Amino acid sequence: MIKIKVSNLSNGKYEYDFEGKIDEIDVSDPYVGDFRTKVVLTKFDNQIILDSSTEIDADLVCDRCNKEFNRVITSNYRMIYLFGQDTQNSGNEKMDVVYLHPDTDKIDLSNDVRDYSLLAIPMKKLCSEDCKGLCSKCGKNLNDGLCNCKDEETDPRWEQLKELKIKNNLN
Ligand SMILES: [Zn+2]
Ligand SMILES: [Zn+2]
Repeated sequence: MIKIKVSNLSNGKYEYDFEGKIDEIDVSDPYVGDFRTKVVLTKFDNQIILDSSTEIDADLVCDRCNKEFNRVITSNYRMIYLFGQDTQNSGNEKMDVVYLHPDTDKIDLSNDVRDYSLLAIPMKKLCSEDCKGLCSKCGKNLNDGLCNCKDEETDPRWEQLKELKIKNNLN
């Protein structure tokens, strides 16, 4: 759990470091091990601005070459806490604003840290930006070197033949 005591907190800037097992914030695959969350909190009279940055190791599989790799995924977010009632029409606007009762003792960041960690998992997982992927013919990982069929594939005569085939299919 990631909790910060806010009752009797005087105005100013505060920094917190949290560390723990990912189970504690209910995060699992592809994340592994521990989470590390840094929080910068700025307290005003009726408002708290909170900036959170979380790092967690993730075991990922490359979309191009199928190789497993490990990477630290960082997720950041800013949350604004307002003391008092939600007097304005909160409507459907999706804003990262949370209303706190003036007597609130602690704020619990666990859910937010979890949600933003999950959002930070990349849609496209690449072991490296220029991953060459697998040969579509022999399946060799081209990051480890070229295979024998590579030459044929890039041979311009092959390209012409392919184009010809595509054209024929279209007609
Ligand atoms: Zn790869
Ligand atoms: Zn090949």
